[in-house]
Parts: sequence; structure tokens; C-alpha cells
Amino acid sequence: MSNGTPAPAAALEVDVAAANQKLNGLSALERVRWAVETFGENAVLLSSMQKTSSVVVHLFHELGLKNEILFVDTGFHFHETLWLRDEFMRRYGLQLVTLYPALTPAQQEEKYQAKLYNFVDGQPQCCAMRKEEPFINYVKERGRRVVLTGLMKSEGGKRGKLEPLMKDPRIKGYTLQPIVDWDEARVDAYLKEHQVPVHPLHAQSFPSIGCQVCTTPVKPGEDPRAGRWRHLRGEGEAGPKYCGINFTDGSGI
Ligand code: SF4
Repeated sequence: MSNGTPAPAAALEVDVAAANQKLNGLSALERVRWAVETFGENAVLLSSMQKTSSVVVHLFHELGLKNEILFVDTGFHFHETLWLRDEFMRRYGLQLVTLYPALTPAQQEEKYQAKLYNFVDGQPQCCAMRKEEPFINYVKERGRRVVLTGLMKSEGGKRGKLEPLMKDPRIKGYTLQPIVDWDEARVDAYLKEHQVPVHPLHAQSFPSIGCQVCTTPVKPGEDPRAGRWRHLRGEGEAGPKYCGINFTDGSGI
């Protein structure tokens, strides 16, 4: 392999149930190593720059990996999010790849004659065009087979049924959650112990961070994802809480 990662095994179809039996008994670091030993350079990380994915970014650093870390720049990010992406490149020299939607925010608004993110019907379309499509297109074009994430079962909701390895039919491949069995306290302890840079807005009542125009801080006692798409929810309504870039947040589980 040109990037120094081990060559992938010949068979790239994995028995998910058997793999999970093994992966459940491994540490987070060992799970990342398994992904790279199995899929070589076609194992990549999708990072939102939130603290859970920052743990996995640091595991890539610990293992000296040059596997790609994908970041989708929607054009609506907080500047702190872009700062953290740059800080990871500066500090760890990782292979961060920024992906962009086909249209700029201005071109999208011109085409649809609306700020789609301000409408219940427009938000899924906006998230699909600005997050999911650039990610899926890149992964398919490059033949990447497994996408690592920072998702954890302890986040609850749609993530409560996560397994370490799951299929993602969108990419005819897999998604792997190295810290699937961690909780927030363990994430915080890891980041502190290893002095990993953390998204500054986590300390300002933003437990979950997406695009600036769709994210607000949460109040004490609120669901950690209550700040996402708050403007699209009426009083007491459920509203959207996931963007769909992670297959397992949708109908996958
Ligand atoms: S989070 Fe909001 S601005 Fe960002 S892609 Fe989704 S709808 Fe668009």
C-alpha cells in the first residue's frame, strides 16, 4: 500500500455476525486496527469534529495511520468546527480530506429560491445535498469499503441498537463504530488524558454540533440533541434530530 497501511485481505465481504463476535471483545484501538488490517486504505473515518469522533481521530494518530479522515464542509459550519479540522491536520499530520457539496450555499438558494434549512420539507433535501451526497459519492468513487464513526450506543435514540460493525448498503460496504460501547464520561476522560483538542462549543452548552444555522445550545435537562433543528419544531413536537449522513441514524436499524 502506498500510504504505509497493511495490504487488505483478499476477501472484502465480511460475515458481520462473526466479525461482531470478535469485535465485541476488542478495545477501540484494536477495532480500528482490525478495520485497517481487513480493508487496508479502503477503511476511512467520517468525522463531524464533535468529541466522540475526536477520540477516533486520535486513535488514527496513535496507530500512525494515513487512512483518510473525511470531513464534509456544508458551507454552514461554525468557524470553530473548521478550526478544529485544521488543528488536527497541524497537530497530528493526519490525512484529512474535506468534501464539498455540488452547489455553494448561494447557488443552492438561487436554484431553489429558498433557504431550504428553514423549512420542515426542505431540511432533508438540504442535508441530503450538503452532507450525504458528497460523502456517499466520494466513498463510492474511491471504492472505500468501511467507514468508521464516533457513534456510541449510550447516545440512545436511534443509536441505542448499534453494533460494532454494520452494513451500509448505500456504499455496498460497512460502518464500524470503534467506541460503540463507550459513554460520554469515558470519552471526556480519554480526551483529557491524551490532551486531544476538543470542539470549543462543547464547553458552551452545545453537546451536539452541526451546521450553524441549524444548531442551538441546549438548556439544562434537555436531550443532548435538542439543539439540532430546534427552529423546525413546534412546542412539544418531535421534529428532525438526525441528518442521515450516518446510515444507522436512518432506517438501517
Ligand atoms: S444541518 Fe441544516 S444547513 Fe446543514 S445541511 Fe442540514 S439542513 Fe442544511
